[in-house]
Amino acid sequence: MSNSKRLLASAALAAVFALVLVGCKKAPDSAQAVAPVPTGKLDRARLLAVDSEPGAWLTSGRDFGKTHYSPLELINQQNVGKLGFAWQYETGTARGMEATPVVIDGVMYVSGVVGRVYALDAATGKLLWKFEPQVDAKVNRGACCDMVNRGVAVWNGKVYVAAFDGILYALNAGDGKIAWQVQTIDDKQRGYSVTGAPQIAGKVVVIGNGGAEFDARGYVTAYDLETGKQAWRFYTVPGDPKKPFEHPELEQAAKTWDPDSRWEFGMGGTAWDSMVYDPELNLLYVGTGNAAPWNRSKRSPKGGDNLFLSSILAVNPDTGRLVWHYQEVPGEQWDYTATQHIMLSTLTLNGVERKVLMQAPKNGFFYILDRKTGELLSAEKYAAANWATHVDLKTGRPAEDKAAADYGDGKPKLVFPSPIGAHNWNPMSYSTKTGLVYIPTAHVGALYANPPGRAEWLPGRMNTNVQVGFSFQLGQPASLPPALRPLADPKFLKTMPDVTPSAALKAWDPVNHKVVWSVPNSSFMDHGGVLSTGGGLVVQGGLDGKLRVFADSDGKLLKEIDVGTAMIAAPSTYTVNGVQYLAILAGSGGGGWSSWLPQNIASKKGNANRILAFRLDGGATPVPADLPPPAPISEPPAQVGTAADIAAGGGTFTANCSGCHTNAWPAPIPDLRRTSAATHAAFKEIVLRGALQARGMPRFDDVLSEKQIEQVQAYIISLARQAYAEQQKGAAAAAPAAPAMKEGHL
Ligand code: CA
Repeated sequence: MSNSKRLLASAALAAVFALVLVGCKKAPDSAQAVAPVPTGKLDRARLLAVDSEPGAWLTSGRDFGKTHYSPLELINQQNVGKLGFAWQYETGTARGMEATPVVIDGVMYVSGVVGRVYALDAATGKLLWKFEPQVDAKVNRGACCDMVNRGVAVWNGKVYVAAFDGILYALNAGDGKIAWQVQTIDDKQRGYSVTGAPQIAGKVVVIGNGGAEFDARGYVTAYDLETGKQAWRFYTVPGDPKKPFEHPELEQAAKTWDPDSRWEFGMGGTAWDSMVYDPELNLLYVGTGNAAPWNRSKRSPKGGDNLFLSSILAVNPDTGRLVWHYQEVPGEQWDYTATQHIMLSTLTLNGVERKVLMQAPKNGFFYILDRKTGELLSAEKYAAANWATHVDLKTGRPAEDKAAADYGDGKPKLVFPSPIGAHNWNPMSYSTKTGLVYIPTAHVGALYANPPGRAEWLPGRMNTNVQVGFSFQLGQPASLPPALRPLADPKFLKTMPDVTPSAALKAWDPVNHKVVWSVPNSSFMDHGGVLSTGGGLVVQGGLDGKLRVFADSDGKLLKEIDVGTAMIAAPSTYTVNGVQYLAILAGSGGGGWSSWLPQNIASKKGNANRILAFRLDGGATPVPADLPPPAPISEPPAQVGTAADIAAGGGTFTANCSGCHTNAWPAPIPDLRRTSAATHAAFKEIVLRGALQARGMPRFDDVLSEKQIEQVQAYIISLARQAYAEQQKGAAAAAPAAPAMKEGHL
């Protein structure tokens, strides 16, 4: 069995996810008896003519502009009440599922965890082929937000996908066999990972990477579509100016950094999600991320805008040269990535029709740019944001409110939005029918303090170097690091936006800059991707396991289907033989590991991943059975180590382990309070030397000492003993405390 197979099989088979699907039955036979042949037939002419075949979903966002809008209206406001289950495909995995299904000529192509790919009969869910990349387990030590994948690109008979460990694959659309593959990461000692979808741009396929919280230096690389030969690479941030610049844009960018910046940290700017290609203008748009250290006074002490952090880059894909750039957050220091969904469309602004690029990034402003020139046309708040009062349209620069938000001045700050973002990677949708953009938003503030002393680079690990908390912790100041507690002053909080966390699906009018309607989601982590349709529908899956359909004009709830599995991805819609289907990936995960939230249905029913499809007059949707109650914690080993060892182990655990191990029941990663005696006996073999690498547990012998591992084990035993004692005191089950929020871990 391959590493990835073992990893995923173990996740699927883990007792916590033992799951019985009740009433699981095949959909009624489709009129189509013969399975379609996957050809992946897509070219420039067909993509440009997408509206002539409304039944197709050709890119991750349907059209080249990735609007996530379909003109289909067979399912509409009048009949959506009859929407029901068509089919499901169980992937056997149990992580975050983030991709939007592509459907071409009756075949669905979609990616799952770590970059697995499934080709399915889009009418029945029958598997035509699947691809399971071998994934180097070591890389998952360098990923902030789950082993996810946000999609494939289909082009001219090939399906392109980038696996978690950075290998870009071109698969033959017919059978899923590898046509070529290339490793896109050339420094595996650094904290790189790849979770984004590749982007086709002219003659090349382009892929970026993630890892800005670690020590990645961001870049995007273009490869020949047919051969995989590297065409160009564009670094999104300069390297140390004492060394030669890789391309001329970096010489200009370097002037916006202190020459004595902490270059060893890599400086991030990673393009981990959104890219979109405009075939009319032959421009590739790339969104870039933040840097580590987050705090700019530590990163680039003499200041500067720090290009190209938090920027949109327009690149000529034939040459790899920059045509224009727009930086949303100069000197970014709040994890305000500009990597969120970029969409292309046409808007009439002040009576003039403009080809525009739209983005609602984490920072709370909705940006509209002229996509040919990069001219900023508007930037207005779609959510609470106090880091800047406004954006000056003449200069394009935000008016940063330093008193409110610059934590480099020695005072802690409460800043909206938080690193969760007013909008994160979950796709939004622009309906050309209503002219509204449907944005999955979150409302959470973050607390920041600048830790004293010099930032020390931790190779391959988290390097954010900032103390972070979230606004919802203000009610319990003791849960915060001492430096952040002054922010809990009620007089101060009266002057701030509501500190209660929430999320809402908002209908945003991009021309008149206003929220037309808004409906609340089940929790602040519940902000799944969105689809809108010509049938007047807006569709969103919830962490509570409900698929909801709203009226596009006023947000009225038209239909709710309980699927029993949390959803964070965006749905797509298509037709086969005249029948319209809605499809969505189910399975929560991603940043924040929200499975510990009681509002997440995974806490009751597990997280077994499924691809689900719905149609009119469909059947009842199979809902997973409830998980059995957790087995009692068996008596842990005797405590080892001193109190000082336990404390040190806790610090090491937070810095290195807590990103995955939340120790909550039933999180997708083992609850270490339940570690067996046998596992404790093999602790060093596992943590230090990688005995469970095949199951996704990386080895740490290159970054942690044997003594540190012993301290971590002492800390875990102390957690287990505490939980065991509580259980024995008579609690029905050891109630899992919400895990402490981690520093900068998003
Ligand atoms: Ca980040």
